[in-house]
Amino acid sequence: MLYKIIPNKCIACGLCQLKAPKTFDYHDNGIVKFLDSDNETLDISNDLPTELLNAYRVCPTRAIVIEK
Ligand code: SF4
Repeated sequence: MLYKIIPNKCIACGLCQLKAPKTFDYHDNGIVKFLDSDNETLDISNDLPTELLNAYRVCPTRAIVIEK
């Protein structure tokens, strides 16, 4: 399963980091990035952690994508 961010859809609302603070961080302009990584894809081999599912659900612009 791939968990992706699409920075050009991000409106810098900050909600994803509230739901998953160990996964998300922001550039200086507030646009989303993964914590400690410049990749835009996270490969998740096991079940999707609840906090990542919650971040996916709360994103208002679908800047977070899950691909199976
Ligand atoms: S919830 Fe979505 S729009 Fe808001 S900061 Fe995160 S990725 Fe960007």
